Amino acid sequence: MHWKLTVLGSSSALPSFDRMLSAQVLDINSSMLLFDCGEGTQFQLKRFGVRLSRIDYIFISHLHGDHFFGIFGLINTFIMLNRQKKLCIVSPPGLKSLIIDVLDMVNKEPVFPIEFIEIACQSKTLIVNAKDFKVYGFPLKHSIQTNGYLVEQFNRNHRIRPDFLQSNEVSFLWRKRIQEGEDFIASDGQVFKNTEITVESKVKRFAYASDTAYEEKMVTDIADADLLYHEATFGDDLAEEAFKKKHSTASQAAKIAKNAKAAKLLIGHFSSRYRDVDHLRKEAQTIFPETILAYDGLEIEF
Ligand SMILES: [Zn+2]
Ligand SMILES: [Zn+2]
Repeated sequence: MHWKLTVLGSSSALPSFDRMLSAQVLDINSSMLLFDCGEGTQFQLKRFGVRLSRIDYIFISHLHGDHFFGIFGLINTFIMLNRQKKLCIVSPPGLKSLIIDVLDMVNKEPVFPIEFIEIACQSKTLIVNAKDFKVYGFPLKHSIQTNGYLVEQFNRNHRIRPDFLQSNEVSFLWRKRIQEGEDFIASDGQVFKNTEITVESKVKRFAYASDTAYEEKMVTDIADADLLYHEATFGDDLAEEAFKKKHSTASQAAKIAKNAKAAKLLIGHFSSRYRDVDHLRKEAQTIFPETILAYDGLEIEF
């Protein structure tokens, strides 16, 4: 099953005419995961046809305004829509009390349960262990505590080894049971362990790394990502600025993607001083050809 990532905002701290603030939503079929929630995110969700009720998780990378100011409006809308489903909000410490204070101030109480998970990741840490996917946090290198996130999903269906199917009679019903993880019991009572008669399932991975300076250490945390989103606020022309502000250049994002053996790299969080970001694409593609430039409304299936 494919996943679909929709970019909702691709600008850095200042919104520009055609780029809103950081937010991306990942559709993994069973659920929708929102990464960052800059101001105006709920409008972008509407604009790009995302059903708000499908969002079960919000992952905030850090508490800079361009990454979370939109969460208050979004929660208010959830309350207005009489949401009943649980919402899980993951962030570095500090967001829970802000949300509670704002809701208190406007006399609103969510009718739906909110689970807050506040974590300052110092190393790769399992945060969400859901039935069919896992989300890990990992540390980024920014001016305040910033978490990167990695979503991982194993293909639930175990693939039966073709040579096993050729030499054994396996009914349609048994095939289904083996695919779901059961051991196979042959008609003569012989038991075949599931791990011995199936091939390893493919893992799908999406990594989200914003905001961050060049951080070689993350390479092992996000290894083999099918899609890596890595910020690229600046180009090589402003490498010094990137270093000072603890952001990355497009070349640095590409280096991380290359070293992590990612299949695809998406770059965004572009400085509003660039009207055209095509030179960032060129710089990144010199190092990592499979680079895509983010724009608001971009959808990537993988
Ligand atoms: Zn930012
Ligand atoms: Zn920031």
